[in-house]
Amino acid sequence: MSSTSQYQDFIPPHRLLMGPGPSMVHPRVLHALSLPLLGHLDPVFLGLMNEIQALLRLTFQTQNDFTIALPGTGSAGMEAVISNLIEPGDTAIVGVNGVFGSRLATMIERHGGTALRIEMPWGTTIPIEVLQDRLSDSPPVKAVVLVHAETSTGVWQPLHEVGALCRQHDTLMIIDAVTSLGGVPVEVDAWGIDACYSGTQKCLSCSPGLAPLTLSPRAVRALRQRRTPCHSWYLDLSLIAEYWDGHSRAYHHTAPISMLYGLHEALRLVHEEGLAARITRHQLNGDALMAGLETLDLKPLPPPGHRLPMLNCVTLPDQIDDTMVRTTLLKDYGIEIGGGLGPLRGQVWRIGLMGESCQPAHVLTFVNALEEIFAGHGWLRHPGRAAQAAMETYTEFQRSARRSA
Ligand SMILES: *Cc1c(COP(=O)(O)O)cnc(C)c1O
Repeated sequence: MSSTSQYQDFIPPHRLLMGPGPSMVHPRVLHALSLPLLGHLDPVFLGLMNEIQALLRLTFQTQNDFTIALPGTGSAGMEAVISNLIEPGDTAIVGVNGVFGSRLATMIERHGGTALRIEMPWGTTIPIEVLQDRLSDSPPVKAVVLVHAETSTGVWQPLHEVGALCRQHDTLMIIDAVTSLGGVPVEVDAWGIDACYSGTQKCLSCSPGLAPLTLSPRAVRALRQRRTPCHSWYLDLSLIAEYWDGHSRAYHHTAPISMLYGLHEALRLVHEEGLAARITRHQLNGDALMAGLETLDLKPLPPPGHRLPMLNCVTLPDQIDDTMVRTTLLKDYGIEIGGGLGPLRGQVWRIGLMGESCQPAHVLTFVNALEEIFAGHGWLRHPGRAAQAAMETYTEFQRSARRSA
């Protein structure tokens, strides 16, 4: 006799998600995820897809016709772009200064391309001069591939000069905007980006499961001019384009209906708030958090001017026990933060303030919890300073907002 009573209702515990993703999801998005299904070719659903495309164009700041949301997480967006734009025999220059740059290089090689890696130490950017030299010294290069927000190190890669350089060398500019989209400016058209992909679970604050993606007319041309069909059938963007295209709507795969409901609502929230206001909110909360953490001797890994506000990567002082603190945060306070990856394992924390997670109440709750844990272990003599420093950042922001009003 088997019984189902041993499988109880799953009720997830309450968590403050302050890691590298997923981020917290707004109740309106959770509601959208639970609505009744429609068929994936139902005219009402197709209307929703059109709205998602329009909202994504606003988010990516592009006029690109080819702007869609793929099934799969951010890595599916990454693999779709690489497998469609890099053919066997193609060469791509890729910036490798963290986990995601090195994942991109691996994908390029698996799809038969040659990855010319620009390796830089984790925690630093890819300098434009190095990219320029590499482009000048290399045989024709199909694409330059860079990670805008390197989530493994908290590094914010400057991109504004890259587009012109790519055009000068007739190469495509491919950008990973998984963590940056919806948190810091991502200006696809103004920066000359040819292919840009993201994920739903970071600053867009939806569940993991979709990868927003946009291709410039140049990238679409490269796709059309492929010598061989894309090795991946599921991620073949020329097939997927026929489903998103308003005229053909050819069946390729069954669209993840509920996920698209959720993304639609998440994007509505982004634009109700306004991109500019959302970006300011991320910067302000990131600044407040860092002001608090510096009082605890937790120092940012990236250099000044290149620190992501939504992914704060800080190095740990010697006496701090990484695993013990993170376990206590989760178990006793319900707060999740990220540890270090690869060479940074045990050496850094990655504190996310993405989308819905990015709020003063969360910043203050977190720094207070951290102070309590530190004080409890004798690592901190005068608790209270971190929260105070964070509060001062908010007060100063309000004061200067009043002054300029
Ligand atoms: C999270 C992330 C990815 C991968 O996204 P998944 O949703 O985990 O598949 C890719 N690139 C960057 C920069 C990321 O932060």
